[in-house]
Amino acid sequence: MNVPPKGTQLLIDYDVRCNTLFSRVILFSTLMMILNLVEDLQDNWIVIVLDLIVIFVFGITYFLNVRNFHLLAKVLYFILISSIIFYFSAATYSRNSVSLTFFPFAAIMILVMGNKNRVVLYSMLFTLLCMVTYLEYNSYLISWIAPIGTPSKDPISTAINVICSFATLAFTIFTLSKVNGEADQALLQQQEELKKANQELDRFVYSISHDLRAPLASIKGLIQVANLENNQTKLTDYLKHIENRVNKLDDFVKEIIDYSRNTSTQVELTEIDFPSIVQEVIENLKFQDYAGQITFCTNYKITRTIHLDKSRLKIVLNNLISNAIKYADKKKAESIVTIDCQTLPHKTVLTISDNGIGIGEEHAPKIFTMFYRATDQAQGSGLGLYIVKEMIEKMHGQISLETDLGKGTSFRIVFDS
Ligand code: ADP
Repeated sequence: MNVPPKGTQLLIDYDVRCNTLFSRVILFSTLMMILNLVEDLQDNWIVIVLDLIVIFVFGITYFLNVRNFHLLAKVLYFILISSIIFYFSAATYSRNSVSLTFFPFAAIMILVMGNKNRVVLYSMLFTLLCMVTYLEYNSYLISWIAPIGTPSKDPISTAINVICSFATLAFTIFTLSKVNGEADQALLQQQEELKKANQELDRFVYSISHDLRAPLASIKGLIQVANLENNQTKLTDYLKHIENRVNKLDDFVKEIIDYSRNTSTQVELTEIDFPSIVQEVIENLKFQDYAGQITFCTNYKITRTIHLDKSRLKIVLNNLISNAIKYADKKKAESIVTIDCQTLPHKTVLTISDNGIGIGEEHAPKIFTMFYRATDQAQGSGLGLYIVKEMIEKMHGQISLETDLGKGTSFRIVFDS
């Protein structure tokens, strides 16, 4: 079953969207401020220094926001822009439209603030609005703020400020709708994944109940017949059948445990002694039917250390080698299973090949599907290769298959490490 990846969930979160938007708004504000600086270069040095300070504080704000100090970043941005608006409202000579910049600024703050701290934001914005409006109509009242610029230059600076503020607002709205679009996409993708997971869950429950009931039903039947039997040889025979069914049940339960462990536990990379793991797996499989008639060949070209999840690797090898034994072609004079391992500079390649019965062309693409069995000869639950693929993908590897009906099968696994 596929669990939706965490990354897609993130963007769906409203606050994350606001923070992403805020980062982009700061970058755009910085660009606007740099344009302002270019225009102000001919002004006196105080204005240039002020512009540089603002750009520097924008940098700090951006850094804080990407480092997850979102509230601090937003408060800093709020204080900075409020101070600029406040200062220019108070310091310009004549009644002008500097206070107009308050409105796009307020809208930007509301858009980037997220769901929390809204009340604080509204009260701060209201206070600022009152102050700016007051200063607009009583300009130049605060005596300690020295007026800057010349009266003739005021309208141009004001126009630039207003254009920059509205451009930033337009950018914010455009970016917000883009980020919302991306979140919608992520939501759709998540819905698709959930739908798939749900279908797989349905199939899983159906197949589990079927695969658990079938051997149980035959065990019950065998016990009933055995109860009526007095012949010792026949009784031993029935017991053997019961043991067989119980082993099958046990294998199935083990597979479900493997599957559940794979989804619930993290990958743990350790240094791998590949030859000894293969040896251990073959040793554990030696009691499997027909294992005694198999010739195992190994071929290792290992020139550096390999780091993989040991317990997952063991389960993968166990499933593949056990299948190679299970689906050996008993009509062939010799059954051979070959295990290769080769390390390349940035890859590790494993191959498990056999000269068994092979898989029909029509079945090969579906072989890794949950509960899929390719032949009537199949003795298992059809869960093994599904688990193998899930585990390999969890270790950031890929598995592929080459097969020829009647000739044999080869599984190739590539790990990017
Ligand atoms: P099962 O428990 O049925 O073995 P798997 O998921 O391990 O389930 O394998 C799915 C199907 O793929 C099997 O039923 C079998 O038909 C086919 N298969 C797997 N490995 C091999 C192999 N080495 N050779 C031939 N057929 C194979």
